[in-house]
Amino acid sequence: MLTADPKRPFPDLADLLRFYAEAGVDEALDDIPADRFAETAAAQAAHAQAANAPAQRSASASPARSAAARPATPAIAVPDEAQAARARELARQAQTLEELRDIVDSFDGCNLKFTAKQIAFSDGSPNAPLMLVGEAPGRDEDIKGKPFVRRSGQLLDRMLAAIGIERASGAYIANVIPWRPPGNRTPTPLETEICRPFIERQIELVNPKVLVTLGGPSAKALLHATEGMLKLRGKWKTHKTQSGVEIPTMPTLHPAYLLRNPAHKKLAWRDFLEIRAKLEMPAE
Ligand code: URA
Repeated sequence: MLTADPKRPFPDLADLLRFYAEAGVDEALDDIPADRFAETAAAQAAHAQAANAPAQRSASASPARSAAARPATPAIAVPDEAQAARARELARQAQTLEELRDIVDSFDGCNLKFTAKQIAFSDGSPNAPLMLVGEAPGRDEDIKGKPFVRRSGQLLDRMLAAIGIERASGAYIANVIPWRPPGNRTPTPLETEICRPFIERQIELVNPKVLVTLGGPSAKALLHATEGMLKLRGKWKTHKTQSGVEIPTMPTLHPAYLLRNPAHKKLAWRDFLEIRAKLEMPAE
């Protein structure tokens, strides 16, 4: 945090770097140079292509229109409702988690794919009775290709261990958004809409006994919650899958929030005791 120090009205370089790191600006350079002008031009071309689609379809009936005259495939995806519909259709086709992983990995309808290194699809055991869903991968998750691998992941592991659960065998962990948003920025509502069918299908295929949403964005996406987390947490809700299965769901605080607000760990502890009790209950 940058602090207001009257003796030092301007932050020094170390303060500034710390501020950037906390804000998620942790990579000054990428592996390959990015031509932002070309990306913008491609995005505009893609929009123009979508807008002209009906005209192009009728024109393509004419023999005068050659393949070479067609606009090139855009280099980046422009998030729009059509991509969300495509994601819904593709997610429905997946019959196994492996198929779903491949579908998500090759899906090019979300612009986040183009800035992330890889997907961070899941960690833990798909046979576990407990599934936890966070918001989106950060820098380390992007590098490792797994959700929750760094500080918040370590805290999550300790929280699970406190109720006798080991991540590798007793929990399945995923995120609403499988790609790291650049600089860890908040995903836009449309990016979330595009990714939502994938996480919904992932939940449906895992079919856990208990689902846990970690933090506000996950509760919002999976429970359509509108309240703040401090009101929402600790009360059982239901996540209904596309096929109508109702999964008891506990919204709780995100481990990253708990690292910043350790006094609230006691609230998360209460939620985790509830989760343990629900897991121990015989299936209805
Ligand atoms: N925060 C999340 O929500 N997910 C991760 O995978 C890591 C941090």
